[in-house]
Amino acid sequence: MQIVHISAECYPVAKVGGLGDVVGSLPRFQNELGHDACVIMPMYRSKYLYTHDWEVVHKSSSNLGHWWFDYTVIKEKSNAQGFHLYLVDINGLLDREKVYGYEDDVERFCAFQIAVSNWLCSWDKLPSVVHVHDHHAGLIPFIMQHTYSFKRLEYVPTVLTIHNAQYQGAFGWDKTMYLPHWDSWKRGMLEWQGTINPLASAIKCAWKVTTVSNSYLGELTSMSNGLEPLFEYEKGKCSGIINGIDYKVWDPENDKYLTENFTVKTVSTGKAKNKEILCKQFGLDFNKPLFIFIGRLVGEKGADLLPKVIYDSFQHIGRKMNFLILGSGDPEVESAVSLLKNFSQGDFNEYIGYNEQLSHLMYAGADFLLMPSRVEPCGLNQLYAMKYGTVPVVRRTGGLKDTVVDMGERDGYGITFNHASVGDITHAIYRSVELYHQKETFNNIRKNMMELDFSWSRSASEYIQLYQSFY
Ligand code: ADP
Repeated sequence: MQIVHISAECYPVAKVGGLGDVVGSLPRFQNELGHDACVIMPMYRSKYLYTHDWEVVHKSSSNLGHWWFDYTVIKEKSNAQGFHLYLVDINGLLDREKVYGYEDDVERFCAFQIAVSNWLCSWDKLPSVVHVHDHHAGLIPFIMQHTYSFKRLEYVPTVLTIHNAQYQGAFGWDKTMYLPHWDSWKRGMLEWQGTINPLASAIKCAWKVTTVSNSYLGELTSMSNGLEPLFEYEKGKCSGIINGIDYKVWDPENDKYLTENFTVKTVSTGKAKNKEILCKQFGLDFNKPLFIFIGRLVGEKGADLLPKVIYDSFQHIGRKMNFLILGSGDPEVESAVSLLKNFSQGDFNEYIGYNEQLSHLMYAGADFLLMPSRVEPCGLNQLYAMKYGTVPVVRRTGGLKDTVVDMGERDGYGITFNHASVGDITHAIYRSVELYHQKETFNNIRKNMMELDFSWSRSASEYIQLYQSFY
């Protein structure tokens, strides 16, 4: 099958969160199953662009309302990622340093989707399936089915994968001229609550919709930022497929970001060496259990609760542990986290920003990973943590619920709690500190977790089975 993935992110070209990780690995595993999967994404001014060789494969032009633009599609020459990687260059719109966060994001991603549809239309043989990811590529199923210029794509099967339904990319009808001329009877396929909503449109138009875990799919019918009735109505074509992790990138034995690699056999000494480096770098106490948080500092991740949780833990449990936070996001949360440093007695530190290398060192050196998420579609951090022998301390929601079994249950290996509340999280930290001091149990849990299989092989074949249902 020829599978075309369309996405705003793809690791290592551009990654903001889990979407990048998934699109950067799933296609390679689909190719390993004997298929021909590729990725099409915008050409940002990323480091990857300047450190790889490219060839031009297509040049053309199209229009965004009254504005005609030229676009160029380039392909990475060496197939370095294990799949064909195509970047779409639109001068003045996509060639920016960041992926998102610009005032003209609507124009940027509309133009990208138009250029991609335009290019696909020119292919001699159309793909077997077009797989779009999140709202930035969400208008493509509509464009393929209901716009006059792209009729040739009408019967190509489409799949939408929702990595995060909180972000929907909605914009006003005043921008309707950005869409290629469409069948006005199909207005309802774009509309949601008075706006053009790309995610809602993709849910309506895609042949199949997947979310990145089963529990998250269940939660979306009652909590999806306004789309609840739509998920209820379309549930017949929705299913959950849990993400895998790419063990080529995330394996403590071969991790190129680590100076001290380790295996299941050497987990105790290996993790201790990494913890030592980390504690030295951040002025923390090696002898206390180390709790980390890695991620976007936003309410969705429960990051706003962290300052109070840390303060309360020190008050109620005592200064028996270290905390280290890596992340960026809401300025208010960032500054609340930074302010905590004033109370540190060598047991708290933070790094505000994005740092891939540090994240690997933290998974390797920490004892516990905190994830008090309010919403967690799949969550990759807990899967990485487990592979690196770090015990996940997570809220029972979405993908966290599907992947972490509390140590109190049979064959359990993590610590879970029910509510994104300071009390519940602090109690989970208390349980973790207790576990840390039961050296034998703690070590066995680490080893068991490292041997769990969260590889892509199973999930990649589930996607293939889904595509095969179209034929
Ligand atoms: P999200 O909702 O952000 O997509 P996921 O758990 O699915 O959450 O994926 C998060 C990914 O982003 C993980 O690979 C995590 O290690 C990484 N990540 C998040 N924030 C940072 C950061 N500040 N520095 C380095 N890596 C980060």
